[in-house]
Amino acid sequence: MLTEDELCCGPHLYIDGKWVPAQGGGTRDIVNPADGTVIATVDEADRADAVAAVAAARTAFDTGGWPQTPVAERIAYLLAIADLLDEHRDHIARLETLDTGKTLRESYIDLHDVVEVFRYYARLAATGSDRLVDTGNPAIISRVVREPAGVCALIAPWNYPLLQMSWKIAPALAAGCTMVVKPSEVTPLTTIALMRLIDRAGVPAGVVNLIQSSGATVGPALTDTPDVDLISFTGGAATGEAIARNAAGHITRVALELGGKNPHIIFPDAEFDSAVDAVLTGAFLHSGQVCSAGTRLILHEDIADAFVAELSWRAAGIRIGPGLDETSETGPLVSEQHRAKVEAYVALGISEGARLVTGGARPEAARLQAGSFYLPTIFDGCHRGMRIVQEETFGPILTVERFSTEAQAIALGNDTAYGLAAGVRTADAARGERLVRALRHGTVWLNDFGYYTPAAEWGGFGRSGIGRELGPSGLAEYQETKHIWHNTAPAVGGWFSDN
Ligand code: NAD
Repeated sequence: MLTEDELCCGPHLYIDGKWVPAQGGGTRDIVNPADGTVIATVDEADRADAVAAVAAARTAFDTGGWPQTPVAERIAYLLAIADLLDEHRDHIARLETLDTGKTLRESYIDLHDVVEVFRYYARLAATGSDRLVDTGNPAIISRVVREPAGVCALIAPWNYPLLQMSWKIAPALAAGCTMVVKPSEVTPLTTIALMRLIDRAGVPAGVVNLIQSSGATVGPALTDTPDVDLISFTGGAATGEAIARNAAGHITRVALELGGKNPHIIFPDAEFDSAVDAVLTGAFLHSGQVCSAGTRLILHEDIADAFVAELSWRAAGIRIGPGLDETSETGPLVSEQHRAKVEAYVALGISEGARLVTGGARPEAARLQAGSFYLPTIFDGCHRGMRIVQEETFGPILTVERFSTEAQAIALGNDTAYGLAAGVRTADAARGERLVRALRHGTVWLNDFGYYTPAAEWGGFGRSGIGRELGPSGLAEYQETKHIWHNTAPAVGGWFSDN
C-alpha cells in the first residue's frame, strides 16, 4: 500500500506513462481552508505540458491499441482501480478533507461512491449495446455499434474533486477512450492520488494523462484544438460557456455539467420534522458548496412562519469546524476568495431587501479565525425578482419564498435559468406525481433530497448543462455510434445504364 505522502508526492504531472515536473518549472501552493496552512506544493503545468498530454493521449488512441483492447481487459483495469481505491480509502479521504475542507465523514462517503462508480461501469461495459436492424432485405446485415469517442479532455471542479472526476474517468476508460485529466487547481491532491493508483493498476502509457494547472493557463490547449474529440466539463456556467465557444470552432463534442439554483417545495401536508431536516441538510451540507444544494426554499404560506422558525433554530445549532475534527458537522468554504464571494452575496441579499433570519457572518470562535468559515445563513421575505434568489451563490445561503396554490409552486420551481435538481415534499401521492412531472429539472426528489445512484442519469435542463453523467447515458457520452451496412450478396444496382 502507498503512504499518504507517496500518493501525492511530486512530480505531479503524468504524461505518457511518466511522472514529470512542469516544463516551465511552475508550482502552486495548496492551502488547507480550515486553517490557511500550505499542505502541499504541486507542479503547475503550462500550455506546453497540456499540448504534450493531448499528444500522448492522441497517440495512445490512434496507434497505441487502447480502443481495440478486449472489453474484458478494460473491465479488469476498472476493477483493479476500484480495489486500489478501496485499499487506500483512509489516506485519500484524509487528503480530500485537508484539500477541500469537507468533513471526514463526507470524504468517506465520496470515496465509497467513487469506488462504486468504477465498479458500476465495469459491470455496464460487460453488457453489449450493439443492435441488429431489420432492413427487410435478407442479404443485408445492418448493425449499429458503439465505438470509443476518442481523446477526451476531462475537467473537474473543486467541490467534489475526486467524485466528479471519477464520473468521467470510469466511463471513458470503459468506452475505450484516452484522456487528459485536469482537476481544479484549488483541489488537485486526490486526483493526483488516483493517478498514482491508475499507474499502479498498469493502465498503458498515454491512456490517462494528468495535468494540474489553472483553467486560464491550460484551458485553450484542451478545449480549442482539433486533437481533442470530446470535452467533458463540470464547473460553473460562465466557464462552460467559454469552453462551448472554443469547442464550436472545431465542432468538438461537449458534455457540460454546470451549476444549479435548486428549489425545494414544501406543502403543508408534508411531515414537519423530516421536512425541516431535509431542507437543512439540502442547503447546508458541505456549507452549501454543492451543485444540487436546495438553496431556494419555497414554502406553503400556512406553514411558513413555523417552518422558518424551526429551521433557523436548527441552522444556528450546526457545529462548524475543521473537517478532521469528528465533532464538526460542516467545514469551511474552500478558500478565502470563495468566502469573499459568498459574503458579497449576503450583502447583496440585504441590499435587495431580504430579511436576514440567521447567520450572515463569520463564526466568532477563536479556533476558527484562521480558516474560511461562514455561518449558515437564511433570508426570509424573498421573491423571484431578487438576484439572491436567481443566482448560484455556492455557499451556505438559503432564501425563502412563499406560495399558496399548487400552480404557483410549480411556476416558482421552474422560474430559474438553471434546471439541475428540485425537491418536493407532500403526503398527497397524486399531487407529488403532478409536481415531479411538471418541474423542469434533471433530478426531482419526492419526499427526499440530495440522493443519487451511479445507475441513474445525472445532469441538468437549461443552463445547468448539456448531456448526462452516470447511468447508461454516462457511458454513451464517451461513445460514437456507427452504422455498419453489410451486403452479403453484392449485385449490379442498375441505377445508371451501362452504355
Ligand atoms: P469553475 O468553472 O471555476 O472551474 C471548474 C474547472 O474548470 C476547474 O478545473 C478550472 O480550472 C477549469 N477552468 C476554468 N476556466 C477554464 C477554461 N477557460 N478552460 C478550461 N477549463 C477551465 O468551477 P468551480 O468553481 O471549480 O466549481 C463550482 C461550480 O461547479 C459550480 O457552479 C457548481 O454548481 C458546478 N458543479 C456542477 C456539478 C454538476 O454535476 N452539475 C457538480 C459539481 C460542481
